[in-house]
Amino acid sequence: MKTLLRNGRILDPSQNMDEIGSVLIENDQVVEIGKIEDLSDIDEVYDCTGFWITPGLVDMHVHLREPGDEHKETIISGTQAAAAGGYTTICCMPNTSPPLDNPAIVDFILDRAASPEAGGVFVAPVGAITKGLKGEELSNLAAMKRAGIVAASDEGFPIQNSQIMNRAMVFCNQIGLPIMAHCDDSNLSKGGSMNEGAVSAMLGLQGIPRTSEEIATMRNCLLSLHTRCPVHIMRVSTWGAVEIIRLIKSLGAPVTCEVCPMHFVFTEDDIGEFDTKFKMQPPLRTKVDVELLLQGLQDGTIDCIASDHSPHASHEVDVPFDEAPFGASTIEATLGATLTYLTHRGILSPLETIRKLSTMPAFILNLDGGTLKPEDLPVAQVTVIDPDVEWTFDRNKSFSKSKNTPFHKMKMKGKAVLTFSGSEIYRDAIYPAERYAIYI
Ligand SMILES: [Zn+2]
Repeated sequence: MKTLLRNGRILDPSQNMDEIGSVLIENDQVVEIGKIEDLSDIDEVYDCTGFWITPGLVDMHVHLREPGDEHKETIISGTQAAAAGGYTTICCMPNTSPPLDNPAIVDFILDRAASPEAGGVFVAPVGAITKGLKGEELSNLAAMKRAGIVAASDEGFPIQNSQIMNRAMVFCNQIGLPIMAHCDDSNLSKGGSMNEGAVSAMLGLQGIPRTSEEIATMRNCLLSLHTRCPVHIMRVSTWGAVEIIRLIKSLGAPVTCEVCPMHFVFTEDDIGEFDTKFKMQPPLRTKVDVELLLQGLQDGTIDCIASDHSPHASHEVDVPFDEAPFGASTIEATLGATLTYLTHRGILSPLETIRKLSTMPAFILNLDGGTLKPEDLPVAQVTVIDPDVEWTFDRNKSFSKSKNTPFHKMKMKGKAVLTFSGSEIYRDAIYPAERYAIYI
């Protein structure tokens, strides 16, 4: 089977490639990139004129909710949503029920993700650092690594005890497992539901101070500097955290970080009349924070863009603001939001956009992906993006089971139109049918 993606703008940050050409996939593998004019033994052709052909997008921060909360999302619905968002690899977080803290659950997730009903997207599990996400006793990280986890994290239950975090970093460094750290001093943030400041005071809501994120960011950065354990800081939201990460990188610590689209698109002002779709942890911050996040993206302090896709059922979010859960369903909107708010506004070039959405996340977690180089990919992972199509995000058309998204009704420019994981796993209705030809 030979599939030709013809005449697109090939953007492959792993080889600094930005040129017009075609990509040939044969037997689920990329075999040729460049000018391919001979169509004589091609089985199918997708005309990509005006589109980008990129390495499949990689989302290192996704909540699939299975096992335990299948009413919010399942591995099947979540991977289908990922494919529609342009992703070919996603990392799933361990705060499931029971938590992902032993090899049996790793096996379960990998089995489910490989089932024919799933979206065809590779799922790379992230294991809990401590048993039950309790922050007390390390889980069997070595056994989970053998079973297939790619990183360790206690995610939304960040380890408060510095001695235990230090021990985790020493051990993870020995076994070659990166740590992903959501940074929050929970004694400072406890009971809060939005950014602490004038807006929280006006709304009468308890605030989450920026120091709760920054103190934990500083601690984790220092522990990484001294243990040499690779640490990836999740969902950075304050200008202070960006400055801390910039400093620790300059000192040579193996620290990387991500930002989520909610934090560069919205501010605390968007909460308006207590709209729970805008309730995040860390919370939406201020215009000054957004400005500094954009600078951090431009100068490379912020390495990646991740969705932090956090689905919740409608009945769970239709409650008073301070009772609602944190997080939003975002995986199908992240690429569109990034193109609209960063690329089309000149914050990131097209190549840098794809680097932050694919090549860097794959590199940081040693995943197969983030490149079009055949020798680095067991299976072709390719995304075709129409960068200029204007569309409106509609949560009712999403594949995710949950509709709790602040991006509903947002006008976006740019969308994934084809996603390949070996063969086609998603074709958007926007992709023109007449541009596809089959010869078998
Ligand atoms: Zn998360």
